[in-house]
Amino acid sequence: MMKTIAVMTSGGDSPGMNAAARAVVRTAIFNGVHVFGIYNGYKGMLKDDMQELTSRSVSDIIQRGGTFLGTARSKEFETEEGRRKGYENLKKHGIEGLVIIGGDGSLRGGAQLSEECDIPIVGIPGTIDNDVWGSDYTIGCDTAANTIVDAINKLRDTASAHRRIIVIEVMGHRSGWLAMTAGIAGGAEYVLVPEVKYDIDEICDDIKESYARGKRYSIIVVAEGAGSGVDIGKIVAEKTEIDTRVSVLGHIQRGGSPTVQDRMKASQLGEQAALALISGVTNVVFGFEAGEVVRIDLFEAVHNKKTLDPELVRLAHVLA
Ligand code: ATP
Repeated sequence: MMKTIAVMTSGGDSPGMNAAARAVVRTAIFNGVHVFGIYNGYKGMLKDDMQELTSRSVSDIIQRGGTFLGTARSKEFETEEGRRKGYENLKKHGIEGLVIIGGDGSLRGGAQLSEECDIPIVGIPGTIDNDVWGSDYTIGCDTAANTIVDAINKLRDTASAHRRIIVIEVMGHRSGWLAMTAGIAGGAEYVLVPEVKYDIDEICDDIKESYARGKRYSIIVVAEGAGSGVDIGKIVAEKTEIDTRVSVLGHIQRGGSPTVQDRMKASQLGEQAALALISGVTNVVFGFEAGEVVRIDLFEAVHNKKTLDPELVRLAHVLA
């Protein structure tokens, strides 16, 4: 059994990362294992920005968005020399294993570190994009989807009052899960995602017909990877000649107090990750499949690309 482990958050922050880190820290301490927090992701690892945590260090954070450990992106860690430097810093503190909470890039960094240096790694998927292969769920996706649905509800009220079309741009450069899920839950008429081709002329004709039949509003959710909300709004306004407004939600989607689902799942993943790591398991990612916690091979997780569930695309189309 290990004596000392560390936990870090990396890449884009997501609501629930705190709950996961808290679970890792408290599980380690519960089992008599020392636990370090590495501040500001790989950047902090290279700067030796880490310190031992107590149970108290993670008090009063489960309800907060963001991450008390901070997060960052590091170009230096992408080099072998950088990773070696990070490893030396871990060794200096007697850290025998590492829990990394982050998106696919962060997990890729962990896989590289594990391949080159003798350090066991356990990953926890933390990103609002829900795009880590092998897991149905990533920490923060539920809170972010709820934030978008809340915005859709409010925008729909005003759209309906003015008979407007509303275009809402949401996050998702390469993954449309967030747009699709929030679009379905928010009752959007159209959801544009990077994974699915769309015909803007067809959409505009469709909207014109629906307005002719008496419809009072139309909601178009656009994942940023499917096009700019502003540009799409301009085209739609021009082609339909219907009053159109654009709302770009931006970083508001990253923040906020995590939902119960994000807190619960993050806590479960944090506990399982810490238990596995201290008992000598390495190169795995803990995720969810069909509601159960599952172990995913770290290398498979980072080498495969998660695809958007076609069932979601179909459902969005049927219910529009
Ligand atoms: P999100 O997609 O939610 O923003 P992420 O974890 O995918 O989160 P990235 O910016 O892709 O975010 O990665 C975070 C950090 O992980 C990078 O700044 C870099 O230090 C490290 N990293 C990413 N890819 C690699 C890689 N192939 N090799 C080594 N390190 C990497």
